[in-house]
Amino acid sequence: MSDHQTEIFDATSAKGWRDTPAGMAHWLGTGPANRTCRECKFFEWSGRYASKGGYHTTGELKPAKCQKFKLLMRQWGPPIKHNLLACKHFEEAGSAPSAVTR
Ligand code: SF4
Repeated sequence: MSDHQTEIFDATSAKGWRDTPAGMAHWLGTGPANRTCRECKFFEWSGRYASKGGYHTTGELKPAKCQKFKLLMRQWGPPIKHNLLACKHFEEAGSAPSAVTR
């Protein structure tokens, strides 16, 4: 690898580059291992969950926007799922919401 090549060509992060949804602040999975956007202080959690009990109603935490994306891009991106593997900008949230409503 030459000096000017960036991390997106690294085999360990290439999958993240291909699979990263719009709205994430950086490539999927480039943050701490096994951490998700739900646990990040930049995940703009609104307190909303999908309803529970019927078809496609899992009670799962709804997608939310990433504040870090807004800081970097100067505009909001589309909402991202809570269970995406964290990016390199991950910072621990003081209190993360649960993944599923009780
Ligand atoms: S880990 Fe945090 S900064 Fe990175 S995309 Fe997810 S919410 Fe945004």
